[in-house]
Amino acid sequence: MSENSNEITAWDRDHFFHPSTHMGMHARGETPTRVMAGGEGVYVTDVSGRTSLDAFAGLYCVNVGYGRQKISDAIAEQAKNLAYYHAYVGHGTEASITLSKMIIDRAPKGMSRVYFGLSGSDANETNIKLIWYYNNILGRPEKKKIISRWRGYHGSGVMTGSLTGLELFHNLFDLPRPPIFHTEAPYYFRRADRSMSEEQFSQHCADKLEEMILAEGPDTIAAFIGEPILGTGGIVPPPQGYWQKIQAVLEKYDILLVADEVVTGFGRLGSMFGSDHYGIKPDLITIAKGLTSAYAPLSGSIVSDKVWQVLVQGSDKMGAIGHGWTYSAHPICAAAGVANLELVDELGLVENAGSTGTYFRSELAKAVAGHRHVGDVRGDGLMAAVEFVEDKNDRVFFDPAKKIGPQVSAALLERGVIGRAMPQGDILGFAPPLCLTREEADTVVRATAAAIEAVLGR
Ligand code: PMP
Repeated sequence: MSENSNEITAWDRDHFFHPSTHMGMHARGETPTRVMAGGEGVYVTDVSGRTSLDAFAGLYCVNVGYGRQKISDAIAEQAKNLAYYHAYVGHGTEASITLSKMIIDRAPKGMSRVYFGLSGSDANETNIKLIWYYNNILGRPEKKKIISRWRGYHGSGVMTGSLTGLELFHNLFDLPRPPIFHTEAPYYFRRADRSMSEEQFSQHCADKLEEMILAEGPDTIAAFIGEPILGTGGIVPPPQGYWQKIQAVLEKYDILLVADEVVTGFGRLGSMFGSDHYGIKPDLITIAKGLTSAYAPLSGSIVSDKVWQVLVQGSDKMGAIGHGWTYSAHPICAAAGVANLELVDELGLVENAGSTGTYFRSELAKAVAGHRHVGDVRGDGLMAAVEFVEDKNDRVFFDPAKKIGPQVSAALLERGVIGRAMPQGDILGFAPPLCLTREEADTVVRATAAAIEAVLGR
């Protein structure tokens, strides 16, 4: 441990405003400070030398794993040659231009251009502006409302925090703001009425969406946004037939579809994109995390040819688009992105996410699904969740005040593995690096079973 560690901890409590942290408890020293120092493969180490298997890949972002020299070399090389130049009025670097080509080569069919940002939140802000611009150019100034879903996660900005369908991100911030609306979450397990089959529930979700569109007026609805698989809202794969039924409604009323692939883009589900995985045909795609494996901050809005053609008409009418970030297509981040996507291919990580993901989820289910307080074990690719219930037969959920999810994740950490207590519901989430091996998956499964037993008994 560094000699300065007490000082660092004190500075942390006194000066560092942490995101998504209980401010009072942390400042009073009631929650721990963990100062991270290194990482290799799926493991991270803190300054005290304690190592943990990171089964959430940071915030489901370090897809290639920690300590990849190919990426740090590419970053260093770019920093040495040209650390920064902007991308305004036709400027770029070899790295940013190459990366845009690599993204379109990997994206679902019909995609045309990439607008670069730095975070998933700002990429969704870009999407909202592009959607409004698009409808203005088409002479439909009323068509501006955006429908998101309860439990969707799309960012923490003013508009993107509004899109996010989790109460914690709204309460006391005066969000959501119009014109954002939320429709039913495709969360079959939490549904009170389970007389419906999964397929019927998907139809019900599509019917609810259509009801909302008709109540608001189809001419006022511009877009629908959703993650292919709900992420932060609980790691919930779509019920049978969901996306097909939702898309049929959107097509009927000429509503754009934004696939938020910040988590699923670049392999997490065992397919390059979640849209291809579930047969989604988006008009815009949001990317971030897996684009650089978080070695440097970079995001993007992938724009389909259909949308691009209209945007071009806009600049022909009005001149250059009035939307730009200083750090858009930042060369260092773009260089990280190129090296990262090459590594994903070289190591066969998309395939590994599919095969090791299937193995991991099936071993996890074998180990914990029978527990009397485990209501559901679910996931897809290398995303998995265990949901805890008070009473399994009647599907009675725990009182949130008992904090069962956070207790299990703390017990897991004590056993050397990082999982994430998802923010709404007692749900333990996993999204390990895509390079996870079967042996590492076994370690996560064993530690999870032991953590559940420690908190909830046998
Ligand atoms: N969209 C999705 C699906 C996400 O999971 C996240 C972040 N977890 C975001 C958007 C926002 O990304 P950022 O935190 O980089 O702003």
